[in-house]
Amino acid sequence: MRKSTIAAIVVSCGLFTSNLFAQDRFANVEMKSEHLGGSVYMMTGAGGNIGVSAGEEGLLIIDDQFEPLAEKISAALDEILKGKLRYVINTHYHGDHTGSNAYMREVRDATVFAHDNVRVRLAAKDDHKHAELPVVTYEQGVTFHFNGETMKVMHLANAHTDGDSAVFFSDVNVLHTGDLFFKDWFPYIDIDAGGSVAGYIAAVETLIAMIDDETKVIPGHGTLANKADLQRFVDMIKATSAQVKELKINGMPVEDIVEAGLGEEWQSWSWQFINEERWIKTLYR
Ligand SMILES: [Zn+2]
Repeated sequence: MRKSTIAAIVVSCGLFTSNLFAQDRFANVEMKSEHLGGSVYMMTGAGGNIGVSAGEEGLLIIDDQFEPLAEKISAALDEILKGKLRYVINTHYHGDHTGSNAYMREVRDATVFAHDNVRVRLAAKDDHKHAELPVVTYEQGVTFHFNGETMKVMHLANAHTDGDSAVFFSDVNVLHTGDLFFKDWFPYIDIDAGGSVAGYIAAVETLIAMIDDETKVIPGHGTLANKADLQRFVDMIKATSAQVKELKINGMPVEDIVEAGLGEEWQSWSWQFINEERWIKTLYR
């Protein structure tokens, strides 16, 4: 066999196994739900954590993870409550938070809400489906009065993206932060989609000011958290941001800062997607 043929086979096998792996990743995902109080649940699977309100008036969800998980999410909702899915709120446009929008609209007949820029960014994708777009958009926020709860959906400017919302269930004292919180991890800040480090810090501080020590905090990614976890997170961002800023002002190139690292204290915040190098590069930008 010629070398190029062997190479082609190796490449195609590689693609095949990586496709299989991608499908397997979702095939093995199990949705889990935890009751947080009143009508409110936190649902986890793969991708952004889902907030659920389930009660007499039906279902509302905050974010809907990846498209291949749509049926599993739908089945997990049925387990909480056999009822109509009335509303979906997208905390921002990323595919691990909006992937099941089309399914929830077409199959579950839900109405999708999001900040104006979520619709703009989803519509800008060449391969987008019309059904995945939010139907109702807002500029500053919107309040739902549903299942006996008051749910305040608030836009926070230029933080993780330019279309972030957080949702506060004031009656049961639960906050869903969207990706304004990665529990115990360096955050992803999507600067190319209008996010910024300064805006991110300001947004987290706004959220902290709204809650108390009893508040249950659903992070965009990670396990159920509280105010102290959110405070520790913003303290980390401020400390590492100040560190990188000072080195940059002193003329240190970004490669050298990456080489030197942020120090032992912050090692545990590094994870697969946002490791220390990527976090330093975000802060440097
Ligand atoms: Zn995100």
